[in-house]
Amino acid sequence: MSRLPAGVLREATVDVGAIADNVRHLRRLTESEVIAVVKADGYGHGAVRTAAAALEGGATRLGVSDIAEALALRRGGIDAPILAWLHAQGADFALAAAHGIELGISSLEQLQQAAAAASADRPVSVHLKLETGLSRNGIAPADYRVVFAEAARLERIGKLRVIALFSHLSNASADDDRAALRVFDEAVGVAAALGLAPPLRHIAATHAAIALPETRLGCVRIGIGLYGLSPFDDRTSADLGLRPAMTLRGAVAAVRRVPAGTGVSYGYAYRTDRETTLALVPLGYADGVPRQASGAGPVVIGGRRHTVAGRIAMDQFVVDVGDTPVAVGDEAVLFGDPTLGVPSATEWADAAGTINYEIVTRVGPRVPRRQVAE
Ligand SMILES: *Cc1c(COP(=O)(O)O)cnc(C)c1O
Repeated sequence: MSRLPAGVLREATVDVGAIADNVRHLRRLTESEVIAVVKADGYGHGAVRTAAAALEGGATRLGVSDIAEALALRRGGIDAPILAWLHAQGADFALAAAHGIELGISSLEQLQQAAAAASADRPVSVHLKLETGLSRNGIAPADYRVVFAEAARLERIGKLRVIALFSHLSNASADDDRAALRVFDEAVGVAAALGLAPPLRHIAATHAAIALPETRLGCVRIGIGLYGLSPFDDRTSADLGLRPAMTLRGAVAAVRRVPAGTGVSYGYAYRTDRETTLALVPLGYADGVPRQASGAGPVVIGGRRHTVAGRIAMDQFVVDVGDTPVAVGDEAVLFGDPTLGVPSATEWADAAGTINYEIVTRVGPRVPRRQVAE
């Protein structure tokens, strides 16, 4: 039976080899340049290690949500191009530009602020974000002309370099995504007529990059696929040729033999129906194990599959293992690569009524990440 290192209650291992392989696979599949999306601390996997592994696998650029995340990557020694696209009012574009961070621009005001952050000898690199249907940020279609014309002027006078036009899709349906792509294509035409010919265009995240080839445009922004998880309800990681990178596990912290009728955890939401063995797993909602999965989340101990018994608490939950021999220190795996016989993050998402993105991203700061390369 597998055991965690001595003294370790819980850990998430992150297989950087899987991340690199996933990028290689998606580059081949999409025949496109990959922008590896490592926002939110690399969806909980560690942003710097994910970025390094993705670059090793052939990604050429990185994407994050905000400038602070981009600066953290620079501090971590990452020197690839990084795009950040969600900015506070008054965000420090000059600091970002000084670190070579490319800015996603969603309005005329942001465009002017980016130009103002240019230094005499260096234009600021921007990607113009277009609203094409998602109703989040992005330049509104009514403003395309004005913003494109200003961007072209600022590029001519050396303040800006327009690297890309980009947008983001709803995945509501293939037809909705195609409609957004048509809006985007028209915008590209308008931009060209106004003198903008950026070298890149990107609109597809993992879902569209795999499912809708016409959205690839030679450059795709891959988030969830890097981590080896599927964005589809009806296709597993293995179906997509991806390998989940994160395994979350704990070391059984207590074992007790109890009679029938024993109440388990807060509220006694579970009662034993026979004499049985209870194993205590030291992971709780503080560690990102969703309380909504109480009584439902899957766990493998000693190669056998069990279900959380009763409520998930802040730091721990209980598993009824029946008459299976389990000892303190045994490994309890919540999720990992299901081809290795452990549950998937998607099963936890289903148990909690959410998506696998949230399961890995919310793994808490109390869980040490340990990098492995299988
Ligand atoms: C998060 C995000 C992505 C990555 O999406 P995945 O579905 O994880 O591939 C791409 N683009 C934008 C703008 C995002 O916010």
